[in-house]
Amino acid sequence: MDRRHALKGGMAGLLTLWASPLLQAGQRTNAGVRKLTDTISVLDGGGGNIVALSSADGIVLVDTGAPNSGDRVMAALKGLGGNPKVHTVFNTHYHLAQTGNNEALAAAGAKIVAHDRTRQWLSVDHWLPDQDRYEKARPKAAWPTEVFFNTGSRKIGGAQIDYGYLLVAHTAGDIYVYFKDSNVLAVGDVASPVNDPELDWITGAWIGGRVSAMNLLLKIGNDQTRVVPGSGPVMTWAEFKAERELMEVVRQRLFKQIRQGDGPQDMVDGGVLKGLARTWKDPHKFLYAAAKGLWGNHNKLDPDVV
Ligand SMILES: [Zn+2]
Repeated sequence: MDRRHALKGGMAGLLTLWASPLLQAGQRTNAGVRKLTDTISVLDGGGGNIVALSSADGIVLVDTGAPNSGDRVMAALKGLGGNPKVHTVFNTHYHLAQTGNNEALAAAGAKIVAHDRTRQWLSVDHWLPDQDRYEKARPKAAWPTEVFFNTGSRKIGGAQIDYGYLLVAHTAGDIYVYFKDSNVLAVGDVASPVNDPELDWITGAWIGGRVSAMNLLLKIGNDQTRVVPGSGPVMTWAEFKAERELMEVVRQRLFKQIRQGDGPQDMVDGGVLKGLARTWKDPHKFLYAAAKGLWGNHNKLDPDVV
């Protein structure tokens, strides 16, 4: 989509950063592949981002793309050069846009690493409230083969890879994956520079969890860290910090309105998203999910709430 749709005028700073030499430096090796460093590329997974680390031991992926992107993703992986075998896959969360090619990659011998709750949501039929239907569990071949709860670290092909849980920021099982030597931090949909931030409230995600997770990420990276969101352009550290600041303002405003008993339409009418450095494509959808998540966490809204 057009970035301008998501941003108001007066955001020249952000637009300039997106067009900065740092981001332009990564050449596109072919359609949909952008090299961030000698070893790390961002691939188009059918709308979402896939991060690929090339190493002597094989490729490490963060997320696998949407189901209809399989041929494109496989072709892009072959084009990376080096050892083309996919050694390990990390899923940042259970959504189909991030796990659509899990089966194919597992069948080719890749380990799939994810948070335990990502495995849970992939392995059971689950309710999709906005579509009023059940989504079938994914076949076992798509499930993570290794799960963790808090944090982990491993070396693959000599590269240090740290990963950890991001609370309930976007789903129940969000994780980051930090390629420490390259200073590239993949955060899935916990950052959302273009699309409306999404709170998958039925899994437990809520605005407080989102800000907490972003605070945690701020302790992992530094000014030179590049952040790869689940979709949209690679972010500079300054852009990521700006998104965190904005989400904190939204959190404070939502806490205030929910304490007054406001529902999503009251929040839209009250202009809770007005005057911010971005606009929402569907404010009601975001605020509905935010309100659901806030009611689910009412005991954390204020120390006086008993
Ligand atoms: Zn998602």
